[in-house]
Amino acid sequence: MTAEPEKTLQDLFKLATTVGNRRYHRLTQKDFADYRAFDYWRYINGDSECGTTEESRAWVRDNSEHHCPVCGAKFSPHHGRSIDHKLPRAQYPWLALDFRNLWVICHPCNQEKGERHWYEYEHYIFTRYPNRYQDIVFARPRHLLKLLRQV
Ligand SMILES: [Zn+2]
Repeated sequence: MTAEPEKTLQDLFKLATTVGNRRYHRLTQKDFADYRAFDYWRYINGDSECGTTEESRAWVRDNSEHHCPVCGAKFSPHHGRSIDHKLPRAQYPWLALDFRNLWVICHPCNQEKGERHWYEYEHYIFTRYPNRYQDIVFARPRHLLKLLRQV
């Protein structure tokens, strides 16, 4: 059970590097401009306000429940809502603009997740918080991971 995710992870990292390099060089100036606008859009201050724009507030409202899907804590000023990229921006800059790659989790969980790749994150949760593992597998961005394999 523990050896399998490692193997998948290795394969995936190799693929991510290949795909990532190719896609990154294809990005245009406009992509970067869009990205900057988008990055501003998804900024969440983590306090009582959910987002900095009407659009981001509405998106967060429509895409989150009362509790963080990772730790189950009720969203509060301390466990504020934040928009996270399931597949990290550092490795998949083009997916930073893809709504299918976003989910709303609490601030502490977002910080703990950091820049881990999704499978690395699943493995981390499996080791640290086995009782949360099923929920994380449920949230896996299957469609995006499948697309990555096809490139
Ligand atoms: Zn949480």
